[in-house]
Amino acid sequence: MLLTIQKFALIMLFIILTLVSSVFTKYFLDQKEKTASVILNSLKNDMSELSYILSKNITHNLNANTYRAVLDRTASNNDYILAILILDDNDVLVSTDPHFKTAPSRTDIFNDDTLTSHEVLDHKKGIEGRIRYYEGKALHTLRLMFLFDRSEINEHFEASKMDFALYFALLPILVIFLSWLVVRYFVATPLELLRQFAYYHNVVPKAFKLKELEAIRSSMAQTFARLDEEQNELYAMARTDSLSGLANRNALNEYTERLIADALHTNKEFAFLFLDIDHFKTVNDELGHLIGDELLKNVSSKITAAIPSNDFVARVGGDEFVVVLHQYDTLSELTNIIDRIQQTINDQWVIQTNPITISSSIGIAFYPKDGVDITSLMQHSSMAMSEAKKEGRAQYHFFTDALNKQVQETIALDKTMRQALINNEYELYYQPKTDVKSGAIVGAEALIRWISPAKGFIPPNVFIPLAEENGFIVELGDWVLKEAISQQLKWKEKGLDISIAINIAAKQLLEPTFEYKLTTLLQESQVDTSKITIEITEYLFLENNKNNLRVLNFIHNKGIKIALDDFGTGYSSLSYLKKFPIDILKIDKLFMDDYHTPEGAIFVETIVKMGQTLKMDIIAEGVEEKGQVEYLRIIDCATYQGYYCSRPLAVKDFESFHQTYIPN
Ligand code: C2E
Ligand code: CA
Ligand code: CA
Repeated sequence: MLLTIQKFALIMLFIILTLVSSVFTKYFLDQKEKTASVILNSLKNDMSELSYILSKNITHNLNANTYRAVLDRTASNNDYILAILILDDNDVLVSTDPHFKTAPSRTDIFNDDTLTSHEVLDHKKGIEGRIRYYEGKALHTLRLMFLFDRSEINEHFEASKMDFALYFALLPILVIFLSWLVVRYFVATPLELLRQFAYYHNVVPKAFKLKELEAIRSSMAQTFARLDEEQNELYAMARTDSLSGLANRNALNEYTERLIADALHTNKEFAFLFLDIDHFKTVNDELGHLIGDELLKNVSSKITAAIPSNDFVARVGGDEFVVVLHQYDTLSELTNIIDRIQQTINDQWVIQTNPITISSSIGIAFYPKDGVDITSLMQHSSMAMSEAKKEGRAQYHFFTDALNKQVQETIALDKTMRQALINNEYELYYQPKTDVKSGAIVGAEALIRWISPAKGFIPPNVFIPLAEENGFIVELGDWVLKEAISQQLKWKEKGLDISIAINIAAKQLLEPTFEYKLTTLLQESQVDTSKITIEITEYLFLENNKNNLRVLNFIHNKGIKIALDDFGTGYSSLSYLKKFPIDILKIDKLFMDDYHTPEGAIFVETIVKMGQTLKMDIIAEGVEEKGQVEYLRIIDCATYQGYYCSRPLAVKDFESFHQTYIPN
């Protein structure tokens, strides 16, 4: 069994205490015996003195009574005498205390020298002496007896017992307790802290008071710190590529495993890119390995700079890298990052005065679609990379054909969409907004059309989402805004002074120069802003952007109305209806389609009522039948839009439609 220091100290103190106590007990007993013998001697002295006086003076045993006064004086002078008796054999002749009329038994009286003084005082009732006198020639002997005053003797010893208890019991206990506290504070606790430190080595204990313990503590702390450092260095070395300073294959494995573990919970995909430098061998062969290494170092830092800061890049072979991307929401965001990587590598490099031009081929595999572990992701992305090489290098290739095709198409669309603006292939169509009661046309919504000479009519649903993703919407939206405002002015001149609604994407609205551009446009055109409505969608509120409230207030303050498009399909919340300056709610076609079912009707009617309460106008979208118009009239919805009145029309068509239009 192992002892703790505290227990050990306690046991040691206990032993010391026992020793000290027994020494003192012995001393106490000696002391007691000494006191007892002093008492007994005083009694014996009195006894011999008295017996001498009496022996000298007594002549006849009957006259013993005449010495009562002498006896009384002796008894009262000595505190330890209770009574003095004179006996003739067993007959009490004289007694200083009338209580004692019979002789105590002989065994109760001290007459045996083997007893200690203390035992005598404790166990006997008194001491005995002799009175010898002559009556004539005959020698008589009387017994002289002192009876002990037990209460007086006890009191004497009781007092010294109390002292003993105080000095030899209480004090040592106090000393032990204090010593134990000191040992605990200076030794036991520090040792326990050291033990914990040695075991867990997390928290370094504070400096100790005892020199030796402090020396152990500080050397332990130093050793652990050095060990930690070495461990970290080893850890880093095992995971770093020494040439580039990038992560190596080990680190890639660990990272990917962690990402896969996370993805199992979040159900998120990520992209695994295998990148190979094109014709790197030529650089090595022609310029030497040193230049090649230098180039690789530079390429490594350029790749790191090109990817989002939380994404990962590793060098897995001579000129091979793996990039793991997980922070993208759409395919085009991903391809943007890949483009960026390839562009930085495509740069003109100058390595030790040697101009070098290189490019890269990238293969892309997705977790979990193309592989659920590092091995298959590695395999499939490098296969895709080989495809990219086969197709002529300096490009990227997805592992799946379908994705490849989709991306190629998107890339093509991206290009032609931008070119179309230069080529003037876009046109605005206008769809009337009709008053439900009178049937009069009260406004029009501008809707973009792309009429491509090569592909024909391309609906906005095909290119607007892509334009929103790749940012082209800002440029395109500027054009729409300008075009629609100028159309309002042209129609006004012709006497067709109607309100025009313009769709503005969230990205366009939140773009930093939007307010400036709008202000300029309004000033230059001098358009009547009360004839302009801007249609926004609930996505604007999704962006956790403090700017959206500011921009909407800005627009509203210019006198432009704000309509909330497709109301009810998105993240509708009453709170932003209150917070943002919204003038019009557009009920989505989805709800109008269902107007004849109780659920659909409840929805439409609730929105209409809410609009009335909040003092907003309501426009019902996608109205295709007479029945819908009738219904809107009954529930008191003011305006509608839809094929029932007219499809969106080109400018000329809108004008002739308007001229020939007969309300109701
Ligand atoms: P939106 O703003 O909700 O426009 C209404 C869409 O519903 C239009 O489709 C319109 O043609 C269609 N529509 C109107 N009445 C009816 C009807 O009775 N029945 C049916 N089936 N459809 C009807 P379009 O023109 O294809 O536009 C689609 C979306 O593209 C628009 O939805 C809008 O979000 C976007 N868009 C169109 N032009 C622009 C633009 O200039 N800028 C921006 N940012 N987005 C635009
Ligand atoms: Ca709209
Ligand atoms: Ca709509």
